[in-house]
Amino acid sequence: MSEVQILQRVNAFLKRQHGHFIDGEMCASVGRAQVEIVNPTTEQVIAHIAIGNQTDVEHAVQSAHQAFIGAWAQTSPYERGLKLNKLADLIEQHGEELAQLETLTTGKLINLARHLEVAQSVIFLRYFASWSTKINGQTMQPSIPSMQGEKYTAFTLRQPIGVVGGIVPWNFSLMIGVWKIGSALTTGCSIVLKPSEFTTLSLLRLAELAIEAGIPKGVINVVTGKGETGQHLIESPLVKKVSFTGSVPTGMAIGKLAMSCDLTRVSLELGGKNAAAILADADLDQVLPTLLQATFVHQGQVCAAPERFFVHRSKYAEFIEKITAALQQIKVGSPLDESSMFGPLSNQVHFEKVKHYLDLAKQNNQVIAGGRVLEGTGYFVEPTLLSVTGTEDPLFIEETFGPVVDVIAFDDEEELISMMNHSRFGLTASLWTNDLSKALRMIPQIEAGTLWINMHTFLDPAVPFGGMKASGIGREFSDAFIDDYTELKSVMIRY
Ligand code: NAD
Repeated sequence: MSEVQILQRVNAFLKRQHGHFIDGEMCASVGRAQVEIVNPTTEQVIAHIAIGNQTDVEHAVQSAHQAFIGAWAQTSPYERGLKLNKLADLIEQHGEELAQLETLTTGKLINLARHLEVAQSVIFLRYFASWSTKINGQTMQPSIPSMQGEKYTAFTLRQPIGVVGGIVPWNFSLMIGVWKIGSALTTGCSIVLKPSEFTTLSLLRLAELAIEAGIPKGVINVVTGKGETGQHLIESPLVKKVSFTGSVPTGMAIGKLAMSCDLTRVSLELGGKNAAAILADADLDQVLPTLLQATFVHQGQVCAAPERFFVHRSKYAEFIEKITAALQQIKVGSPLDESSMFGPLSNQVHFEKVKHYLDLAKQNNQVIAGGRVLEGTGYFVEPTLLSVTGTEDPLFIEETFGPVVDVIAFDDEEELISMMNHSRFGLTASLWTNDLSKALRMIPQIEAGTLWINMHTFLDPAVPFGGMKASGIGREFSDAFIDDYTELKSVMIRY
């Protein structure tokens, strides 16, 4: 099969000398060091990005602060919404360009980049835009006793918190960047984004489109670099809130650093070891296509995707037989080939991490299906199903963030819930059953921020998302994000 033609615009963008996007324009980095951007399919260097130092970060934060107290504060809520909608239109118009940039830097299938990453970025941004005119306080009636006929009233204001530092991972850089931009801008905040060093390009391009959309300069800035650049951002005194999406160890370090910086607010969207439980009544022929798609989308590099399958013992043998057959049908290939069903892992560091887990499984004879690293160029591994030695097995406990799932049998619901909850994480879970009464009794007992019934991994802007336990602090989407991006100011009046 042939690969899609890379747009001239994309090739030209890759060849540019990339700096940071500050105060409405690309500007050269003061920090001299660079990082190579590697295409995970070809292992070739396709661009270089700058590593921002403290001076670069301060420049961006100053610009964001000036925009926050200036042009953006002068923009009415209605106009904020219009501009975010205009940016959504431009993302749609430049969809193929952004999708190709994502595929070239993350190995995401081109159709996934088009129909999930870009399309959902547009949907989420329009959802956030619609909140701009609805960020309101309340009025209250105090009960203070009146001695001389005086009266009291009170109201609250929701005021934007200020400059937000948004730190983004590599798996869905554009979409997660858009979540942070949407939450910040609709509430009246400005933002400095620090994309992942592996997948920086789509957010640099997005910042240019924001200027075209009429979003004032300085409202969205992008400083590129690695972890240290992110640290400078958190440490900046003008950054009032950090919105981080990434791994648990980094999230914990960021949480501690933010607390030590005069209690800078922080929301953390972290990893998971998500459980999908297939109950005794489930029809496997109905379950498997949806479950497989939810599990192996973007080569399993999705925080919400399942990594642990629990199957009722009465269905275990049938499950293993059918899933093994289905995994063999998954066509691995170039992500630019529209007929591929499964591409490479996104970067070499992650490839090495997943290989380590595959080696561990092979040493202990735990591979049920897949398990191979594909020879040749690119960071390709097979979609893999493993058995586990028990609930203390590292393969049961640690997030691989790859296409590596374990399967374990259970006998009753009590045992199932105990095994599902046997994890430091609590991001997502799913139950696959038509027994509504059983599902409703189990839902409150499962430790997960999002629980799906007969589905998994789907996010929607109207439904809050975030983790319990070590999977995070805070919630995104719905109206749940508003508290995190605003100060609630109380006003009491005696009259
Ligand atoms: P990561 O934690 O390694 O890096 C995330 C971002 O943090 C990158 O931009 C990185 O440069 C930056 N960073 C690293 N160290 C830093 C430091 N000390 N200070 C400030 N910034 C720092 O994560 P990753 O490998 O990019 O992403 C994969 C992880 O993200 C997985 O654990 C996955 O589950 C999680 N994730 C969670 C969600 C969610 O919504 N819960 C979504 C996507 C990914």
